[in-house]
Amino acid sequence: MKKIAFLGLGNMGGLMAQNLLRADYPMKVFDIDRDKIRVHLDLGADEAGSAPEAVQDADFVMTSLPGPAELESLVLGENNILNSMKKGSVWIDLSTNNLDVERKIRKLADNQKIHTLDAPVTGGTEAAESGTLCVLVGGEEKIFHECREIFEVIGKDIKYLGDHGAGYVAKIAQVILCYLHSVALSEAMMLGVKGGLKPEMMLDIIQKSTGRSYVSDRYGPPILSGSYDPGFVLGLAHKDMKLSMELARSLDAELPMCEMVEDLYKRAVEKYGFDQNHLMAVKLLEEANQTFLRGS
Ligand code: NAD
Repeated sequence: MKKIAFLGLGNMGGLMAQNLLRADYPMKVFDIDRDKIRVHLDLGADEAGSAPEAVQDADFVMTSLPGPAELESLVLGENNILNSMKKGSVWIDLSTNNLDVERKIRKLADNQKIHTLDAPVTGGTEAAESGTLCVLVGGEEKIFHECREIFEVIGKDIKYLGDHGAGYVAKIAQVILCYLHSVALSEAMMLGVKGGLKPEMMLDIIQKSTGRSYVSDRYGPPILSGSYDPGFVLGLAHKDMKLSMELARSLDAELPMCEMVEDLYKRAVEKYGFDQNHLMAVKLLEEANQTFLRGS
């Protein structure tokens, strides 16, 4: 069976790697936080002491890292994993990344006869756990087909979108809806609550209206409970919005609502910190209105 090196075993990568291990893929794992890999070692993975060591004899190198800076760090200096990867192997990046870093890495990879695919995912931790992610793939079609069996372990909808970068563009374009919807949901709830309705009643009404969405289904309950949502961190949500605005500027696309929401997530990170739950953006609105959207 083809060998996998998996780098970045966080909320998403950790669950995807577990599914691949359960499908019997031999795997070496590396994360800068060793606590993240315990469960994978129990499932039969081998631990690597560094990223270059992890990738040495892998056929597929899979990365699920926070963003462009961490991906770029994998090709810098003595930790450059491309120097340790086998010729003909494939680097599949599952992270939400930008096109500049994609191009930089691909140029270096081409020189070493290493293939790259961008394969960011949508669906969140629930879909990562159940192996039902939507995988958005960009790169050479022949290489995509060679990797298809791996994508089918982690995802249900596997979309080949075209040349390198197409996966990242699709991911960055669709992800804005998650944050715009989260903010819109909390504003609709806030208006109803300020007008005298109970938060749980407002959410119930939204769930029966045309405004119902995955966001209101999935994020409404943690807003009501005040737990927000532990599956994704605020700093990465802001990173996604920043990537969307960078892409918009590079394409001359005017997206006024995105601009406002990017600013709101920026302020939320400044106030609450990078590692807080992404729904803390709602808390910013709650504090500004001195009203919490808590159910009783
Ligand atoms: P996370 O922060 O939980 O996981 C990232 C992991 O990478 C961490 O365990 C961290 O220790 C590790 N890491 C950082 N730098 C490293 C390095 N140089 N070498 C090895 N490991 C390193 O983030 P996540 O929520 O799992 O997200 C991962 C990617 O998937 C991000 O790009 C995110 O935008 C994207 N994404 C997340 C979700 C979600 O719901 N969580 C959904 C879709 C896409």
